[in-house]
Amino acid sequence: MNRVITSVCNYFDNEHKLLSVDQSDHSVDWHRIIPFLFLHLACLGVLLVGWSPVAVAIAVGSYLIRMFAITAFFHRYFSHKSFSTSRTVQFVFAFLGTAATQRGPLWWAAHHRAHHRTADTENDVHSPLKGFWYSHCGWFLSGAHFATRQELIKDFASFPELRWLDRFDMAVAAIFGTSLWLLGEALAWLAPELGTNGWQLLVWAYFISTVVLIHATLSINSLAHWWGRRRYDTRDDSRNNFLLALITLGEGWHNNHHHYAGSARQGFFWWELDISYLILKMLSWTGLVWNLKPVPDRKKFAHQPVRGAQQR
Ligand SMILES: [Zn+2]
Ligand SMILES: [Zn+2]
Repeated sequence: MNRVITSVCNYFDNEHKLLSVDQSDHSVDWHRIIPFLFLHLACLGVLLVGWSPVAVAIAVGSYLIRMFAITAFFHRYFSHKSFSTSRTVQFVFAFLGTAATQRGPLWWAAHHRAHHRTADTENDVHSPLKGFWYSHCGWFLSGAHFATRQELIKDFASFPELRWLDRFDMAVAAIFGTSLWLLGEALAWLAPELGTNGWQLLVWAYFISTVVLIHATLSINSLAHWWGRRRYDTRDDSRNNFLLALITLGEGWHNNHHHYAGSARQGFFWWELDISYLILKMLSWTGLVWNLKPVPDRKKFAHQPVRGAQQR
């Protein structure tokens, strides 16, 4: 019973006593997988709530804004510091990224920095060399990768508001989901002709949108190291893939990114669609972000015939 209570407390407070998490165990931890399975099963709620055009539209908006928070901020800003912003904008997008239910900004960026240091070696956090499903979701469902690797994210861990988001990430997701429920109830009251309500928005704009968002993001760890073309002969097995770039707003140019991770843009050439970079560029005109780091020409044009890895 004690263990059950600790588990439930753990879901909402990552620094609660870690009785149930073995930090040396790389196998899937059933305690960690329960909320992940619950997210998927909750999508079946669609059988009860039905659909409406407005619910689908808000689900798409919920996906896009949180995907932007993940790719532009969790990845390009917190992990790689490829542009600058104010503390307020930093917090707003850290909050929206945490609402994507992929843990908090410090946990996410620290594990990603570890990935770059050891990509596709036996020390990599999530290389497909350890098996496709391990690279996709097995790694973060294990006790070994539960804790935030504080030593890799000291620069941002000095902000108490980011430590708070990191510690109570599931509470942030609950606030986001509750806000969508309230919005749906308000629409049902103010504009009943739209045919939506709180439960319908919760299922579409939180559960379904979040599950698609999580798997799209995870595909960069799994598929983008396995399927696509290699322009640069990087030490890892990263790939460029247009389809993945489209669904992740630019993250699919992953071989480019492993070749030069310090740039705010991942589509290095005009024909490589990188929606997050285009939005960052527009935000820079408003002054909300600045100092977007470019790709140096010596890096951009440094591609040679790629040896040792087949094109899939
Ligand atoms: Zn990678
Ligand atoms: Zn990266």
